[in-house]
Parts: sequence; C-alpha cells; structure tokens
Amino acid sequence: MAPSPTTNNNNNKPTLHHNNNNNNNNHPESSPPIAAATTTFYHHPPPSLEQPQPQPVVIRRRQRRNPRQTPREGKSLTIQPPYPWATTHRAIVHTLKTLTDTGITAVSGDVYCKRCDQRYQIEYDLRDKFLEIANYIVENKYKLRERAPPAWMNPTLPNCRFCGQENSVKPVIAKKKKSINWLFLLLGKMVGCCTLDQLKYFCKHTGNHRTAAKDRVVFLTYLELCKQLDPTGPFHRF
Ligand SMILES: [Zn+2]
Repeated sequence: MAPSPTTNNNNNKPTLHHNNNNNNNNHPESSPPIAAATTTFYHHPPPSLEQPQPQPVVIRRRQRRNPRQTPREGKSLTIQPPYPWATTHRAIVHTLKTLTDTGITAVSGDVYCKRCDQRYQIEYDLRDKFLEIANYIVENKYKLRERAPPAWMNPTLPNCRFCGQENSVKPVIAKKKKSINWLFLLLGKMVGCCTLDQLKYFCKHTGNHRTAAKDRVVFLTYLELCKQLDPTGPFHRF
C-alpha cells in the first residue's frame, strides 16, 4: 500500500491573495519566530521506521561535474531573485530564519483554473505549511525509499475560488526555469506539477541526481527545498 501524506482537509484550501503587490509583511498577528519553532516541532518517527532500509540501487556512473553546476558560458553566476523568498542563485530559496527575519510569513504564487481559465494568486502560510511537510518527511522518509508518494506525484489541486470546481487550480509555472516559484510549489505540495525537465533543472542547480525517474526527482526536490529552508533539519538523505 502506498503511503500518503498527511491528509488534512485544509491542505488544499489556500487563502486568496487579496492584493497583488506581493506585500507579504502585513500579518499583524505574527506567529512566533520560525527559527525557534521549527526543529523542536518535528515529530519523532516511530522506532520501527528509524531503521534505514538499504535497497539495491543501480546508478549509472556518469562523468561527474561540479555538483552545484556553474552555468554554461553566457549565463551569469547569479540571477535577479524572481521572488522575495528566492536567492540570487538558481533554484535556491532563503532559509526560514532569513525569511522570518525579513518579515516574510506567507508565500504567494499564480494559479489558473483548468475549467474556467481564471488566473489569480493564492498564498500559503510559510511556517504552517513547512511544518506539515517537514513532519511528514521526518515520519516517512525511510518508508518512502527516496520515491515521492502518489499524492506528491499527482497532487490534489485546490478548488477554484471563482467557479467552485474541485481539484481544478493548477500553478502557473514560469516558462523561464530560473523564474520558477519553487517555494510556492513546495508549500502547496504541487512540485509534482512540474515537468521532468523542470525538475531536472532544479536538481542540476542544487547538486542532486537528475537522471532518475520522476518519482525520485520529485522526492529529492521536496527534500532539498526543506533542507534549504532549514539547513540543520533532518532532511539529509540516508
Ligand atoms: Zn474555475
């Protein structure tokens, strides 16, 4: 039986982003600092799951280049951060501490409805969504055997705010890969909406395997993004 992520009915009910000016600092009732809250909030996995399950993995050896690759000729080392939570490095977001320190408590992104075509923005609470995903990973990491569960591969999409259609709102994924809103995709658990090509781009710029099947690359993307948010958290591979 395939494991499924935490099923919480609120998972796919993002709040509507009311203003379009990307101002994410307007949360008066701010929650406690994330840095203080995150690591202590991870659940401990049941003892039976703590044992790593080694598995035979056939990895075709390829000529290994610098893991966090330098861009090809003509491409700059750094980029203009496409979002307030993105860094100047491709596919790398700021840590939770940096985001909290700069007052970013929510992450927004563009979506569109498959049914009525309406395009709008939705927003996720950074701390709540991160902890939900982080706890799921901590509890299931070894059970997953480095493969994304079905719910990550084919995410249940949010319902449309306009026409009410269920499972209908897809993220708008930037055509330019350096502008992909990775943190938004993570928090909405919509990383699986990316193409294999887009996921390989992410893995290429973060030093992860990118020759594997999509379920493996999706898993590594979740793990890597959580690690970027909390570098001291339990998001290492085996
Ligand atoms: Zn709609």
